[in-house]
Amino acid sequence: MSKKKAVCKVAFVGSECYPFVKTGGLGDVMYALPRALIREGCSVRVILPLYRCIPEKFRNMMKYIGSFMMDLTMEGRTFYVGIMEAEMDGVTYDFIDNREFFDWGNPYTGLWEDIPKYCYFSKAALAVLNYLKWYPDVIHCHDWQAALVPLYLRTKFWNCPLKDSKSMLTIHNLRFQGICSIPHLKYWSGLPDGLFDYPVFKQNEEEANMFKAGLAYADAITTVSATYAKEIQTPEFGEHLDAHLRYHAVRMRGIVNGIDTDLWDSSKDKLLAAPYDAGNVLERKWDNKQALREQLGLNREGEDGGKIVLGLVSRLTDQKGLDLVDAIFPKIMDGRTQVVVLGTGDPRYENAFRYYEDKYKGDVCAYISYNEALAHRIYAGADAFLVPSLFEPCGLTQLIAMRYGTVPIVRETGGLKDTVLPYDPETNEGNGFTFDRYSPDLLLEAVEKAKELFFGDRQRWDAMVRRNMEKDVSWEQSAKQYLDFYLELKK
Ligand code: ADP
Repeated sequence: MSKKKAVCKVAFVGSECYPFVKTGGLGDVMYALPRALIREGCSVRVILPLYRCIPEKFRNMMKYIGSFMMDLTMEGRTFYVGIMEAEMDGVTYDFIDNREFFDWGNPYTGLWEDIPKYCYFSKAALAVLNYLKWYPDVIHCHDWQAALVPLYLRTKFWNCPLKDSKSMLTIHNLRFQGICSIPHLKYWSGLPDGLFDYPVFKQNEEEANMFKAGLAYADAITTVSATYAKEIQTPEFGEHLDAHLRYHAVRMRGIVNGIDTDLWDSSKDKLLAAPYDAGNVLERKWDNKQALREQLGLNREGEDGGKIVLGLVSRLTDQKGLDLVDAIFPKIMDGRTQVVVLGTGDPRYENAFRYYEDKYKGDVCAYISYNEALAHRIYAGADAFLVPSLFEPCGLTQLIAMRYGTVPIVRETGGLKDTVLPYDPETNEGNGFTFDRYSPDLLLEAVEKAKELFFGDRQRWDAMVRRNMEKDVSWEQSAKQYLDFYLELKK
């Protein structure tokens, strides 16, 4: 870490972080935002669980720093806390080692086991900072898995130097809240009975909610886009916490995610058949499209234009609007279209896409798996990219798609609304095709409009491709907004 005094010391606490362990956008943010903050002069430590599923090559980078015993649960049982440390590009990563909690799952198991695991993790994260005598200005916690940090900070750690640190809790996805029976959480968290009331933990007569409590206790709340910040204060998007969020809204801000433009750089991307920039995108994209088709066994065509390729890279869950895609799939397949789907999740969608692959052999590929390299090749090889989400806190795939010169087709919700400007044929401006109401007909209309431009006015389409590649989707502006918020808290 640099010797210059940092403008702000920040500890990140979260359950996943690329490249060690990633299941979705949270992993990307935990990787990219610390790097962007370092460029703004911050000093950043990231605290993570040392899951068994972290690959050996990363474990080999870590060194043992120390260990101690920590009490947890209502009975005050003691548990081992080991600290393994790695440094990468100026960011220090501290992994909490405890095989009892972190030897299972990928990295998540089931809520019943995950509740004790993340009670332990949240408390241990503070204990580790204490042990290291590294007292941050802000402890930046992410999602429900780290939501107990603000509570431990103000209760069990009230009497140590950490008490001067402020806490920030970021909502990456409000759908997952860490809800379980009150006795289960009371037992494992070991937190005082007084907190298990409606304003803090209590969800209903039987259940307690970790995210709800974290939001009540955090000094600041953020979420990952301005639109989502507004949406979650309404019953439609609030996942039963809308009233709670309206109450705490004075401390909440929406700051849109970016992407790491070094990691997502089509001109240096070694995974691509033909790396490219905005200058040579048109020829090179064609090469990537052909390579993608070849890899996936899709029909390849001559050099004369041909079919549009629609890409979709996603967790296959209801959130992602896949029932809309399912409903219109036969209508999309009009003889001039190919579709590539990469994802895993709900068997209902996995099976639907497998069925279409079989039905439209050679024009549809359903790659039911998690595959980072293929994701890169789809962003580069597809012409357009589908993100028709039911709700989308921010969404990263549309940002990556734009960065790679691929035109997004998105629903106007959450961060999708904030980052994709609808194409306007009058002014020839915009980044993609959008629709508002959650309806298959409107998605189909947006896809049709995209095809109309792709097949009907390639010059304008190509101009949009170049415009998207030059759009600022980096973390820089958002990292500055986080830093401003940290400095306000520090005062
Ligand atoms: P969410 O966090 O809701 O899953 P985001 O759009 O915020 O959605 O982030 C998704 C991230 O996960 C992106 O980096 C995307 O490329 C990646 N991703 C999703 N599914 C897969 C998959 N099957 N294989 C590889 N990468 C995937």
